[in-house]
Amino acid sequence: MRKVIEVTHCDACDKKGEEREATTALSVAGESWDLCNEHGLKFRDYFVALFNTEMTTAQSA
Ligand SMILES: [Zn+2]
Repeated sequence: MRKVIEVTHCDACDKKGEEREATTALSVAGESWDLCNEHGLKFRDYFVALFNTEMTTAQSA
């Protein structure tokens, strides 16, 4: 029996032509991405900033 070890690559790094192992997954409304640690943090910061802006806008309205 042949054993295939699957390594999931970071989707963001893939786009840049780099192969990096994904350590985290991001899932939003049915879409999902596998991300390396670096990109995971990047996306997290992006969403955190996005939600903070939304909340500030909603509160001041
Ligand atoms: Zn990456």
